[in-house]
Amino acid sequence: MGKYSALSLLRGAFNGQSHWQPAWRDPEPKASYDVVIIGGGGHGLATAYYLAKVHGITNVAVIEKGYIGGGNVGRNTTIVRSNYRQEPLGRFFEFSLKLWEGLSDDLNYNVMFSPRGALTLGHSDADMIRLAEKGDAMAVQGIDAELLSRDQVMKLEPCLDFSRQARFPIEGAMIQRRGGTARHDAVAWGFARGADSHGVDIIQKCEVTGMVMDGNRVTGVETSRGRINAGMVAVCAAGHSGHVAAMAGLKLPVESQTLQAMVTEGVKPMVNTVVMTQSLHCYISQSDKGGIVFGGDPDNWPSYAQRGQPVTMEMAVQQGLALIPALSRLRMLRCWAGVTDMSFDGSPIISATPRDGLWINGGWCYGGFKATPGSGYLFADTLAKGRAHEIVEPFALDRFERGSAVDENGTGPFPNHR
Ligand code: FAD
Repeated sequence: MGKYSALSLLRGAFNGQSHWQPAWRDPEPKASYDVVIIGGGGHGLATAYYLAKVHGITNVAVIEKGYIGGGNVGRNTTIVRSNYRQEPLGRFFEFSLKLWEGLSDDLNYNVMFSPRGALTLGHSDADMIRLAEKGDAMAVQGIDAELLSRDQVMKLEPCLDFSRQARFPIEGAMIQRRGGTARHDAVAWGFARGADSHGVDIIQKCEVTGMVMDGNRVTGVETSRGRINAGMVAVCAAGHSGHVAAMAGLKLPVESQTLQAMVTEGVKPMVNTVVMTQSLHCYISQSDKGGIVFGGDPDNWPSYAQRGQPVTMEMAVQQGLALIPALSRLRMLRCWAGVTDMSFDGSPIISATPRDGLWINGGWCYGGFKATPGSGYLFADTLAKGRAHEIVEPFALDRFERGSAVDENGTGPFPNHR
């Protein structure tokens, strides 16, 4: 039991665990840092952690307007995978998946990485052809992919509706067995504790309200707790990337949209993998507490509301029930939403900007949780060396001007355009 015996836990239950030490400090902001990171979500914290751990750059502040875990890092549906067809995306997300596989050991913090398999169902011959093509493209990149027959899927996920009258008949699937889930808030806390232990200042309840400029160079930030000077400023503000970049006079090619998810009451294990589909806008997994987690598409219009629309929820639930009819007997426990920064090719932006000293890590759309360790590692490398790491070179901000979009779907991220 380590530091805490059964007796000390019992004693703590009566005194509010007053002897527990905070996992990270609560420092006052200093006047100046080598690097100021805007946003204490997964990406900001991971960047700070790897800057300190790998590059020895520890005079770093992570400035968070709310609290650690309050943004999308604590609101997502926790899916981790690297099943991409396009080489730049496959390379990036596979790099990240490899970090996930050792992350609990690296952080000495259990992020509950659970490689239970990321299953993509096919509902027609056309779906199966596309899945086979994608699996081949992954295999060429050295990423694991297996095409499954209908019978194999039936053994793996017996709760799915395999009847021939099913609204969405199941013809087979593609599985990435190394994909799965991780505990989202543990990821935020693990990176926060790790960064803090290397001397990074995590400053919560501190909003960045403006950029300090000297000509074309960003030299610091104005915050709700005063001015902080910085050698470099790194934006990791997820759904607020566009808003923060505008403080430096930049217009990012992103649109903020609300993405929501829901969870049912807990039940015994019934969904074994992460179930996604090639054609529908619904995905399902079961949390470690037994709740069935549903996700769907973003609410297809710009918004900063952290609250979803019933129409989107209804669509995800209708499709979920069609796939697993037994879910109709469960009660929905709660739903929530987060603000995502949708880029116009559906791929991230990890890049220098037209302002000297200002760097951006954003455009994560609805898939940035699985990127967290990879993004943090590669962005830290980029900041430390003042140039893009070769894996993130394709995700430069100026790719839109150059016509070099990295578009996995061929139509951008917006579902109605698919
Ligand atoms: P955040 O945690 O949002 O961090 C950004 C931080 O910046 C916030 O804490 C915010 O308060 C702070 N900030 C903003 N403006 C300022 C300012 N002016 N000053 C100071 N701080 C500021 N991805 C997956 O890979 N798999 C999934 O299954 C998945 N499911 C999702 C389901 C939902 C419902 C949602 C909403 C997202 C999902 N995502 C998923 C996407 C993923 O959560 C995000 O892409 C990722 O978390 C974004 O990076 P982050 O963790 O750094 O963001």
